[in-house]
Amino acid sequence: MAKMIVYKFGGASVKDSQAVKNLAEILRNRLRKNMIIVVSAMGKTTNALETILDLKFSGKDFSKNSTILKEFHVKICQDLFPKEHRIFPVLDNYFLALGKKLENPLTKDNYDEFYDSIIGYGELISSLIVMEYLCELGMIALWKDARDFIKTNSDFRFAKINWEKTRIQCQNQLKPVLESFPVVTQGFIGADDQGKPTTLGREGSDFTAAILATSLDAVSVTIWKDVPGVLNADPKKFENTVLFDELGYKEAAEMTYYGASVIHPKTIKPLANAKIPLFVKSFLNPESQGTKIYSQESQKSTPAFIIKENQLLLSFKVTDFTFIEEGHIHKVYEELKSLKLRVNMLQISAISISLVMDFQTFKLEKLLERLKPFFEIRYNEGLELLTILHPQQVEMDRYLDGFEVFLEQSTRNTVQIVRRKK
Ligand code: ASP
Ligand code: MG
Repeated sequence: MAKMIVYKFGGASVKDSQAVKNLAEILRNRLRKNMIIVVSAMGKTTNALETILDLKFSGKDFSKNSTILKEFHVKICQDLFPKEHRIFPVLDNYFLALGKKLENPLTKDNYDEFYDSIIGYGELISSLIVMEYLCELGMIALWKDARDFIKTNSDFRFAKINWEKTRIQCQNQLKPVLESFPVVTQGFIGADDQGKPTTLGREGSDFTAAILATSLDAVSVTIWKDVPGVLNADPKKFENTVLFDELGYKEAAEMTYYGASVIHPKTIKPLANAKIPLFVKSFLNPESQGTKIYSQESQKSTPAFIIKENQLLLSFKVTDFTFIEEGHIHKVYEELKSLKLRVNMLQISAISISLVMDFQTFKLEKLLERLKPFFEIRYNEGLELLTILHPQQVEMDRYLDGFEVFLEQSTRNTVQIVRRKK
């Protein structure tokens, strides 16, 4: 019997009707039993839904945005299906339900829960369109609601997976179906114990693919992307990028940790634990090899360049002519933890603690307020954090010239530079 495999198609691979046709073309000779296909929302749908939520939250009219979003999906369906196809009434119903949900009160207190009840519509609709289109072409696939088997706690917007329950549901509900049919489902979404919708964090569909792969004992995961595979730098920001044919789990995880956006950071760990290889392939060039990520110990020294934008550099200075001690560090970290802020880089000197993190307005205000009594605080916004892995052969000046450098740190295998264009 064919072994279980997982495919994942992100937003860019279903961004318009042409993209959906391309997806179907990729699946034409690959679709089979024991295959689960995870899809994201179409194009920028998740952002569009976030905008609707923002507008609603600030009491503004979002009806135009809802109409545009519906039209966007209807237009795609008009390109893909005959006029009388059942997808059209189904789409109507989904947008009706979404509209109804958006009439409920939204406050600061229920924001995250409300968000999760709305934001998953992008994935639900997208996966339906994909499933219907495959069937329309005679490629029979079933549609499944991921909330029935991706089981999480109730940390809305950042839900944690209940691995045990998820595994049971996948084995009991999905596996028997997959033995007869391929299944199309949604990334990013799950449900808590009460059945309330949850989400796994933005860009979480890759993680869904990994969760399903481990819970179904799959033999591989393939993420189809608009890049040829994992490159050593973002081609939008760097020239002369190099494609990795293979990468170890550890190296791949490290790259995502520093901000490489090609794969969601949480994706690697479960796959590494279960020794399931991850293929990153181009949906524009499906026959090309792409990158294989698996448990090889590579001695590769190709440098990798990763940029995190919109960084904030904060420095906390002790004011009373003492030196930095554990107590100061503890104090700062305690507040960071309570605000769920993650530090991307840390440097400690005799009299100050410097931190680099993603910029988040509200949290910054709170952090400053709480730590003001203890430190003299300064900060710089709008910086970028450049991480270079395997910097041995790299000509460093190229990355410093023309930039104002705020902080620099290096170890044998990593250089990090906090900088701003002059
Ligand atoms: N649609 C979701 C997002 O844009 C999840 C994903 O694309 O992975 O964040
Ligand atoms: Mg996306």
